[in-house]
Amino acid sequence: MHRLLLFFVLATASPAGAAVPEVALPERWVHGAPGEASLQVHEAAPGLWILRQSKASNFEAPFLYLLAGDRRALLLDSGAEPAGDGEAAGSELPLRATVDRLLGEWQRKHRLDALPLVVAHSHGHRDHVHGDAQFRDRADTRIVGTQPQQVAAFFGLDRWPEGEARFDLGGRALTVLPLPGHEPAHIAIYDAQTASLFSGDSLYPGLLTVRDWPAYRASAARLASFAQRHRVERVLGAHIEMSARPGQLYPLGSAYQPDEHALALDASSLALWQQTCAELGDFLHEEVRDEFVLARIPQPGEFADQPNTHGMLVAGTDVVYLSHLPMFHRPHDYQLIFEAGLPDQALQRYRADAKSHPGEYYTLAPSEQWVLPDTIRPDGHFKADLYRGHFERGGTPILTGVEVKVDRIVHFRRFEAGRTPDPRQWIAFGRGREHFLAHRLEGAPDRDQVVQVTAAHGEGERVFVEAGATAGSGELKAGDRIGGALVERALYTEYGDLAR
Ligand SMILES: [Zn+2]
Ligand SMILES: [Zn+2]
Repeated sequence: MHRLLLFFVLATASPAGAAVPEVALPERWVHGAPGEASLQVHEAAPGLWILRQSKASNFEAPFLYLLAGDRRALLLDSGAEPAGDGEAAGSELPLRATVDRLLGEWQRKHRLDALPLVVAHSHGHRDHVHGDAQFRDRADTRIVGTQPQQVAAFFGLDRWPEGEARFDLGGRALTVLPLPGHEPAHIAIYDAQTASLFSGDSLYPGLLTVRDWPAYRASAARLASFAQRHRVERVLGAHIEMSARPGQLYPLGSAYQPDEHALALDASSLALWQQTCAELGDFLHEEVRDEFVLARIPQPGEFADQPNTHGMLVAGTDVVYLSHLPMFHRPHDYQLIFEAGLPDQALQRYRADAKSHPGEYYTLAPSEQWVLPDTIRPDGHFKADLYRGHFERGGTPILTGVEVKVDRIVHFRRFEAGRTPDPRQWIAFGRGREHFLAHRLEGAPDRDQVVQVTAAHGEGERVFVEAGATAGSGELKAGDRIGGALVERALYTEYGDLAR
């Protein structure tokens, strides 16, 4: 077992000089090592305990927060179902006993006659409410329901999802904010005393799954605005799924995370999270950042798109990338670049043809109609015909009925109304010997352009948006320099489809 002797201090005094109690977080949490306690208890500051359920108990390994004032206490979340050994007895999380002990000590220390407890939830997902049952028979205890109306009514959030409510523990005023999107009843809680923001499953170092993107985006904007108006020293979420390596998630369901990311994020992470949400537009596929990954959970009937034929530009012969040929109207209003898998034989034909026709470009015309975000997803596939040249403009068919596999999505975004084009924005992709830049489209009138460049963007496969030095329309030609790279050739340049 880890002895958790190493601490680092995250806050001392505010810039304004107002003292904030020191908050100490352990360097390591229980993370699935053999022999660990099923529930780690850590006193982070007076009246703030952080409990972590171990990975061995449940792979979700959620963090629970217990806060106490001199009038009442709040338990935020009650944990996930512990892995049972079949015999239910003894496999229950020792949460109730732990909370009773901690609050008993607090009560004695502060000579409090009574200390009612409120059990509330960051949101109603199973891994955050399972332990509620342990508190049903506890005296002086209120368990808040998990429906948005129940949460709103309990805290007095009468403008849900707008507004905020004060929740006073007695000498410790908390602020409660609606934060729907991951789940409809999600909230954030701010503890001014320790300048800590509890963000549940909406923001933590891990895979942030989003069910309702518009709601989530609006929530992120409200929370970021709150953080600008208040001192936020740390953002404490409900899980850790990121490793210490930037952008690297542990595989879903990992029961052992020896090198996990720190629990606390800071105000700048929160600002980046909000900025990412804002920049993505009104459609989310999956977006990787150093400290978190945003991912959409598809909802039935989420898209009003009609099935259609989605033509693609083909870039690359080593790795085959497909870039959707977009327009600014439905259902073609997506910029999409992904790595595609072709059957060996088809790939050989394509490579041979490309080799004997240097300077030509290739397009793909799907043989069937489908809804773009429904088909283009991990493990998605479709049948298509390959053309030398543009399939709608006199191109030459090379292959028909090829089974195309979606291997990896590089960039997937829907255009959002009211955006102005920015000629300097580029998306870099490619690996090995072939590297490309695609102009990042925003709004009409814009230009769809994909150019092949020498490998100088230096970020491997990673997609980034870079400001080129080009002025005017920003159109690139062979021989131009951009971001330290040389343009070898313009593969495809289209204005007409993006004019309006
Ligand atoms: Zn959740
Ligand atoms: Zn969760």
